[in-house]
Amino acid sequence: MNIILVGPPGAGKGTQAQRLVDNRGMVQLSTGDMLRAAVKCGSRVGVQAQTVMERGELVSDDIVAALIGERLDNDQLSGGFVFDGFPRTQAQACALDVLLHSRDRKVDHVIVLDVDEDILVDRVAGRFTCTQCKAGYHDNFKPTTTPGVCDQCKGPTFSRRSDDNEETVRNRLSEYRSKTAPILAYYAPERIVEHVDGMIDIDAVSNRIAAILDHDP
Ligand code: ADP
Ligand code: ADP
Ligand code: ZN
Repeated sequence: MNIILVGPPGAGKGTQAQRLVDNRGMVQLSTGDMLRAAVKCGSRVGVQAQTVMERGELVSDDIVAALIGERLDNDQLSGGFVFDGFPRTQAQACALDVLLHSRDRKVDHVIVLDVDEDILVDRVAGRFTCTQCKAGYHDNFKPTTTPGVCDQCKGPTFSRRSDDNEETVRNRLSEYRSKTAPILAYYAPERIVEHVDGMIDIDAVSNRIAAILDHDP
């Protein structure tokens, strides 16, 4: 089963994708994570993407589709893919269909995390990640059990994203509204779009998603 998580920055896509990896053995494909890795290692793609990401704009469709294409062949297919932050434009949605069809696969569910826009800046401003195991946390909504120590790997160091500031988040939100939200219309004829309330707590969101996946005929 392959699913797409859709939502504005801070909606909870990465958090829920991590749960699907842990609970269902799915493979998370996050174009944001892939691009940040490219920026870190200074590859050609990374150099091109860096300034665009800092501005909160979208990296070109060709670059992100190529990143996804590489991973579809390399990763284990056992539990299916959870696409986190991809596709973000109609051209990417179309490219994904082509990539999956040529491998006899398809998108089974598009799950939209609905959130009030006024909480997104808080969600993103409080976000931090374990540098060792990449577990995601939040200053107020999901702090570590022991301050300064990762719950999962006991690692002592954490990082915050440089694009998680208010001004960039506002640009990212406007990109979401104008380019990403319209992809739901692209999937509408297939009747695979489902909305989940992203304002309830993290476990409750996971339960709603599980209910959708478990009712798959
Ligand atoms: P996205 O990948 O959609 O940008 P994240 O999963 O990184 O969003 O979540 C953004 C921040 O909000 C993280 O710090 C995360 O711990 C927190 N968070 C995620 N889901 C919820 C929720 N349902 N309630 C409260 N905080 C949440
Ligand atoms: P968030 O989890 O907050 O929604 P991401 O980590 O998914 O953010 O993305 C961070 C940035 O990386 C985006 O603002 C954009 O510049 C770039 N990016 C990630 N995925 C894509 C994509 N599918 N298409 C274009 N740009 C992308
Ligand atoms: Zn950790």
